[in-house]
Amino acid sequence: MFALAGKKIWVAGHRGMVGAALVRRLARDGHRVLTAGRETLDLMRQAEVEAFVAAQRPEVVVIAAARVGGIAANAARPVDFLHDNLLIEANIMRAAADAGVAKLLFLGSSCIYPREAPQPIVEDALLTGPLEATNQWYAIAKIAGIKLAEAYRRQYGLDFISAMPTNLYGPGDNYDLESSHVIPALLRKAIEARDSGAATMTVWGSGTPLREFMHVDDLADALVFLLEHYSADAHINVGTGQEVTIAAVAQTIADTVGFKGDLLFDRSRPDGTPRKLMDSQRLLAMGWAPRISLRAGLADAYAHFIESDRARFAAL
Ligand code: GDP
Repeated sequence: MFALAGKKIWVAGHRGMVGAALVRRLARDGHRVLTAGRETLDLMRQAEVEAFVAAQRPEVVVIAAARVGGIAANAARPVDFLHDNLLIEANIMRAAADAGVAKLLFLGSSCIYPREAPQPIVEDALLTGPLEATNQWYAIAKIAGIKLAEAYRRQYGLDFISAMPTNLYGPGDNYDLESSHVIPALLRKAIEARDSGAATMTVWGSGTPLREFMHVDDLADALVFLLEHYSADAHINVGTGQEVTIAAVAQTIADTVGFKGDLLFDRSRPDGTPRKLMDSQRLLAMGWAPRISLRAGLADAYAHFIESDRARFAAL
């Protein structure tokens, strides 16, 4: 058990969906949270990161900062995804190690696993086969981050750990239809269909693919749990263990926003992989469990979209 109480916790990447959720959660618990905006700290500049950590002396560090984006962004800017993520994680870990930080948590994502990994995907599937080519730049950087954290454990005996979240959604999500994932895309589409009085709303693909989704507040809860209870070389999956079809998600979203028309499945759009589920037994066996059902989580995401996220995506 590693107690967070009284410790100064630096959340790097506090403006992203995950970092923001973690800051909300830590603040609610009364923890001392340290953040630094892009205008005061450039995470790609090693000297700046070292000076910041040396001056602020955080005792716990969470690396939620990353260059993220969808398939189109990865294809257009591979250097940004590989180079920037390598620098961010390397700079923060080096500075944390030099300053004697007591605990560091590095975050990746499920795209680190081989494209053909057996489902549900266990942690040991890492580096057992070729990656999905479209996001290999991001994946390689994240795999390097996991290994770097493991290397710091081995060489310096530091308590650096890594967690791999499943597909996330919630407040602060990306609602840009060109680059967003399915939940924010369908939330927007359902609202537009409702407001325009459309008879149908279009869902890409057949509706049959299976996906696992987690509300970002559940992830924040899991990260707090891991900071306090997890210390091992291996990275750990963070998922719900529950999967749903895209058709079921789309219907729940329609119900959530009050769209009463029909779902129209556009089979000219790709389904992507038929099933994507992580095996989170390692975490679940430690006693952690998600609390937010998909229905409740979607209602929360919808409320935040109306309240604040919509303003950032002015096209709606
Ligand atoms: P993936 O999990 O990497 O495949 O990423 P996505 O979240 O983009 O897509 C998940 C599934 O939702 C795929 O089968 C998509 O075809 C399907 N889907 C249905 N409607 C939409 C939509 O409007 N936008 C997106 N991004 N996916 C959609």
